[in-house]
Amino acid sequence: MREEYLFSLMALAMVAGMATAAAIAMIMNKRKEKEEKFVTVVRCPKCGYEVKREWKEGDFVGLVQGPCPKCGAMMIVWNIYKEGGEEPPKGGL
Ligand SMILES: [Zn+2]
Repeated sequence: MREEYLFSLMALAMVAGMATAAAIAMIMNKRKEKEEKFVTVVRCPKCGYEVKREWKEGDFVGLVQGPCPKCGAMMIVWNIYKEGGEEPPKGGL
């Protein structure tokens, strides 16, 4: 009788654990869906040539990106904004 009780307790704990794991997985999935994408705007301050690309780790405003294909001046990260959102007004550098 006692063993049976223990067994059902263990089964209950297992089910509860599985339910918790499932809940956590669901929350993680929702978070992944909501994960926001950022766009990096690389701009040449000399001629104004602008390239947009997906934001990647290490990008920050002011980061030197390399020579401009149009005039050869150094291009910098000009702006970083949330994809789908409103592009913030330029300037302020
Ligand atoms: Zn340029």
